[in-house]
Amino acid sequence: MVVLSLGTNLGDRYANMILLEKSVALLFEGPIRKSPLYETAPVGVDESHHPYLNRIVAGEYHGSTEQLLLETQTIETRLGRIGKGELAPRTADIDILLFYQEQIQSETLTIPHHALFDRHFEIAGVQAVVPEMKIPGTSIRFKDYEIPAHVKTQEIIEIEQ
Ligand code: ADP
Ligand code: MG
Repeated sequence: MVVLSLGTNLGDRYANMILLEKSVALLFEGPIRKSPLYETAPVGVDESHHPYLNRIVAGEYHGSTEQLLLETQTIETRLGRIGKGELAPRTADIDILLFYQEQIQSETLTIPHHALFDRHFEIAGVQAVVPEMKIPGTSIRFKDYEIPAHVKTQEIIEIEQ
């Protein structure tokens, strides 16, 4: 399974999220699994930024990691991403959280994604869509992963299933 994190905090966030989901569904082979829709306050940035809508999705992908990155970046650009960089507001952000059991550390890709275990909604979303998947490099399944207390304190709101 490949697991992606979809995010938007600018413009019509609900419309952006639907476009993100539809675009990503076309990349995957077969059905996609979706986490609940989460609303999360931006962490560590200017409070004038709107809260993020996030959803974690999973599916099968038959290309390479680099191909997937290019395809997700094309979607981000098409949906009119404005800022670049970790803290910028944006209409569309797609992060590759997991790519099967691969562990990658390259110029362009860190997989598992660097923020996966630091963000409550990311780990909760992964547990919702791929509970049986093993954390790469370990024999621990995501459903058995105990979210650390300092991550659990990040408030996430489930808006809908
Ligand atoms: P973030 O998503 O961390 O807030 P950006 O979306 O602006 O920040 O980061 C984009 C850059 O991160 C891309 O140039 C890409 O090469 C790099 N990157 C590294 N690992 C990943 C990953 N697992 N998924 C998506 N982008 C990644
Ligand atoms: Mg990103």
